[in-house]
Formats: sequence, structure tokens, C-alpha cells
Amino acid sequence: MTTHAPRAAHTVMLPGSLDEAVAALTAMPAAVPVAGGTDLMAAVNSGLLRPAGLVGLGRISEIRGWQYQDGHALLGAGLTHARMGRPDFAALIPALAAAARAAGPPQIRNAGTLGGNIVSAAPTGDTLPALAALDAVLVVVGPKGIEGGTTSREVPVGHLLAGVEMLRPGELVGFVRVPLLHAPQAFLKATNRTGPGRATATVAVVLDPARRQVRCAVGAVAPMPLRPLDAEAWVASLIDWDGNRGLDPEACRAFGEYAAAACIPDPVRPDDGSEPVTLPPAALHLRRTVATLARRALGRALA
Ligand SMILES: Cc1cc2nc3c(=O)[nH]c(=O)nc-3n(C[C@H](O)[C@H](O)[C@H](O)COP(=O)(O)OP(=O)(O)OC[C@H]3O[C@@H](n4cnc5c(N)ncnc54)[C@H](O)[C@@H]3O)c2cc1C
Repeated sequence: MTTHAPRAAHTVMLPGSLDEAVAALTAMPAAVPVAGGTDLMAAVNSGLLRPAGLVGLGRISEIRGWQYQDGHALLGAGLTHARMGRPDFAALIPALAAAARAAGPPQIRNAGTLGGNIVSAAPTGDTLPALAALDAVLVVVGPKGIEGGTTSREVPVGHLLAGVEMLRPGELVGFVRVPLLHAPQAFLKATNRTGPGRATATVAVVLDPARRQVRCAVGAVAPMPLRPLDAEAWVASLIDWDGNRGLDPEACRAFGEYAAAACIPDPVRPDDGSEPVTLPPAALHLRRTVATLARRALGRALA
């Protein structure tokens, strides 16, 4: 009889603290951490991954909530999408809460975690543009060396997503540090179906009145979220930060198009005098989608 059942991992460890989890990963370098398992078990079930061991993070209560720290929220990597979608969290970090609410059907939101979404780093990861617009920083916990114990280091989320910095053996994402901006934020997602689905494009817009900044990140159109920095700076210069922060609808529309063209640019013009190449229809459609999302997200943040 043939079976498609995946070969079970030989060892499953269920540590009760981050320190124990790091020790378990250090003792067994071939083991992989698993949080909600929504991405990892899909890879195991499809035969893409055969982990020799699993280190389950579900019993580590210190990473399932959040705490306040110097004007920031220190979010545990084990926060589920369902928890982040609740009103108390939405009052703190509206863009991240909206992204978490958009992440898959309820079963996935109940199990899937912030840390898993970040480490999977799928282009369609819904929390990623929100974290990029928020300039979030990861607190990575790892082994201290021959003395034993754990040490931590900080990695900007964009560095991990761009592959500038990687997780080293034995390291885990413990927490995500997000500034509390006390200002409107928006996250919008487009899918090609009704109901929950993977994103074709996402846009997060965050206002930072203290720095007089508008920060925007576009997800799903590239391997990692993109920041249209020139469009951000341009629109921030138009906003009356000391007044009602209103903006002409035409300026919101121009911002959407500016941001979309930065993320999905025109092909480079040939320098041999031949006909310029135009964007294929699918890319033009995607650019229009991003422009609409960016316009609406900015409009909502400024409303
Ligand atoms: C049907 C379905 C629909 C989905 N829809 C969406 C969607 O709409 N939007 C979306 O964004 N995602 C979606 N997902 C993907 C998935 O649910 C999310 O990426 C989720 O956040 C992953 O979290 P997890 O806890 O399940 O991660 P896991 O599957 O447990 O782990 C994923 C990866 O992260 C690593 N990892 C987990 N936690 C840590 C940590 N703390 N430190 C270091 N490494 C860690 C694991 O080793 C593994 O490599 C969907 C998945 C499914 C199966």
C-alpha cells in the first residue's frame, strides 16, 4: 500500500519559555520551530519539508500577548491573527489589526501567528506591509555561546524580509517592537475572489504626526513589501499637520498613482530608438489596483 502521509518528525519538544525553546533548538539543530503550523504543516504535508524534529512554541505564554515599552508596543511573536484582530488591539495598532483580520479564514486566523507570518515571509503575507509601514523591529532571541543561556538582538523587519539579515541557527523571533503613533492608519487588501483569499495587492498607510510623515507600504506585488518613498514625502509635504489634516481628493488620487507607478514601474525605454515597450495588461491592471488601494487607504487615514 502506498501512502502520501508525511513521515512524522522523530522528536517533538514543547518548551514552556523562550530560553527553553532556544536551548532545544541549540541541542537539536535539525529541528524547526512551529507556532500555529498553518504554513509549516502545509509544507510537511506536501512533502516539501521533512523536519527531523519540531520545537512547538504554543506553550510559551510570554510571546502570546504584548507589553508597553517606551512609547512602543512589544508584541509577542505568538500573537495569533485572531487576537490581533480584536478591538483592544485595533485601538493600539489599527493597520496591523486590519491586516490580521484579512489573513485567511477563521481557522487560519485562530492558529496562525505574527511570528510565523514574518518568518514565512510570503509575498502575500498580510501583516508584512503593515509592519513595513510601521518601521517595526524584530527582537530575535538566540543562544549565548559556550556560557549557555540566551541573548537577543534587534533586526528591522525590512532587513529580514530583504534577506539583508537572516535568522541564525538556534534563533527565534521573540517579539516585534512597533511604535505607538496615536494617529490614524489603514490597511486594504485586494484578492481575486470573494471571501478570504491570498492578496493580489495590499496597501498599508500610517500617519506619523510627530515626524510629519506619511508611511506607505505595498504588499504582494513583489517578493517583499515596497515603500514608495518619494510619493510618501510628496504627500506629507501637502498635509496641514497643524490643522485638520484634510487633503484634496485630487491629491489623494495623484498619491495613489505616484505610489503605484513607483512599485510597478514602466519598462525601461530602449536607447536604440526602437518603439518603447509598454507594461503588459496584467501589470497595468495590478498598477491600477494598487493606485486605487493607496488612494483609498490615504483617504481613510486622513478622514
Ligand atoms: C488556507 C490558508 C490560507 C491562508 N491565508 C493567508 C492570508 O490570507 N494571509 C496571510 O498572510 N497568510 C495566510 N496564510 C498563511 C499562514 O496562515 C500565515 O503565514 C501564518 O501567519 C503563519 O503562522 P504560523 O504560526 O501558522 O506559522 P508556522 O506554520 O508555525 O511557521 C511558519 C514558519 O515560521 C517559522 N516560525 C514560526 N514562528 C517562529 C518564531 N517565533 N521564530 C522563528 N521562526 C518561527 C517556522 O519554523 C516556519 O518556518 C494562509 C495559510 C493557509 C493554510
